[in-house]
Amino acid sequence: MKIAVVGTGYVGLVTGTCFAETGNHVICVDIDKSKVDKLSAGQITIYEPGLEKLFLRNQKEGRLHFTTSLKDAVKDAQIIFLALPTPPGENGSADLKYILGVADDLGKIITDYKVIIDKSTVPVGTAAKVHAAIAKNTTVEFDIVSNPEFLREGVAVDDFMKPDRVVIGTESEKAKKILLDLYAPFVRQGNPIIFMDEKSAELTKYAANSFLATKITFMNEIAQLCERLGADVDMVRKGIGSDERIGKRFLFPGIGYGGSCFPKDVQALVQSANEIDYDFKILNAVMDVNEKQKLHLLPKIKAYFNNDLKGKKIALWGLAFKPNTDDIREAPALYIIEELLKEGAEVNAYDPEAMGNVKAILGNTITFSERQYEALADADVLVIATEWSEFRTPDFEKIISFLKNKVIFDGRNLFDLKFMEEMGFHYVSVGRRTVLPQTPKGA
Ligand code: NAD
Repeated sequence: MKIAVVGTGYVGLVTGTCFAETGNHVICVDIDKSKVDKLSAGQITIYEPGLEKLFLRNQKEGRLHFTTSLKDAVKDAQIIFLALPTPPGENGSADLKYILGVADDLGKIITDYKVIIDKSTVPVGTAAKVHAAIAKNTTVEFDIVSNPEFLREGVAVDDFMKPDRVVIGTESEKAKKILLDLYAPFVRQGNPIIFMDEKSAELTKYAANSFLATKITFMNEIAQLCERLGADVDMVRKGIGSDERIGKRFLFPGIGYGGSCFPKDVQALVQSANEIDYDFKILNAVMDVNEKQKLHLLPKIKAYFNNDLKGKKIALWGLAFKPNTDDIREAPALYIIEELLKEGAEVNAYDPEAMGNVKAILGNTITFSERQYEALADADVLVIATEWSEFRTPDFEKIISFLKNKVIFDGRNLFDLKFMEEMGFHYVSVGRRTVLPQTPKGA
């Protein structure tokens, strides 16, 4: 099949590459010329495990192309995916200007039947708006489908190739048939394709992300209780997670959710509800709790330094909003850095993939270390903001030899409390007791 993917970011590039991988001919289009130039020259523009290999292979086979021309991209394509940004607008609702702008252009350039598929996360009613925007400029037959994307950055290729489910919102039998054929290679193991109307498909995506954000936030509030009551959130997590109705996943407390999806999607759903005079109370609380949770470690760091962070050197491991991505949108680490700098501290950061993106926005307000342990040199304490695998079993002797004080503030609960005690650390995590170094007997 011939496919055009409009927008070549995290979703668009994975979508285009994975459809090429199953033998389709794909043209990805983006307005960012430098991105298109790089991709055309065989340079991948995002870090996503497993993507580069597929990208290079399909490009070499001539199945994956890049252009800045929407007209060229859609000319021969029967299927057009929209993988465009839907950032929060002024009042928090999803800003549809990118989607509707492209829809407007599509109406002017399509000359034969197209299935136009919205992969972006959009509020209920967007499919109808896209339909109207295209229809006002053309009499050519087309169908609009809502096909929200559920991939997770960091495991996006796997998620795309083996989705838990594919949600397809359309009432057009013709479009259904085309999408069934297109997705057939991805659902061979019996994972379902769930057909529904456009509105339900649009809401499904917001409901999924908001539910997951709520689950994380619930555990973060339980962690707050644990700290105040002397319980251990890890034990509580295990205790409830073995109940199948609750499930083990998404129960890990930490310093809040971030990324390009949860924060904006929760906000957009609240706003959609407001627009129809419904006060979505739980989600308002979720947003409020998460804002605070991002800075959960700050008062603890300040207390350690007697409320004076001026000139203190903080080593920070982890900048990406989660491991295995270079995405820093709404990353808790950025909020922590902002507060540390306000307090007069100096930050030296290390992240395996995200330093380039942070440098681009923070410049030289903080320093970066090319290697994990270099970031610790001469630092007063270590703060961990992202659970990259390489931070999970670090060389503690090295940490001790570099850090001025044996102190770790861990926003992701990476280490065992007993072990940290034996190692003599002052160790602060989330929802668990603070480990304090034992004073030697007789001292
Ligand atoms: P992104 O910002 O990484 O990529 C969007 C791309 O669209 C950019 O490359 C941008 O240059 C391009 N673009 C903007 N205007 C354009 C235009 N007029 N023509 C062509 N290209 C244009 O965004 P993303 O993370 O890929 O997200 C895209 C959508 O998918 C959003 O609605 C998001 O909520 C949703 N989504 C994202 C994820 C994720 O993990 N990132 C997962 C599921 C769904």
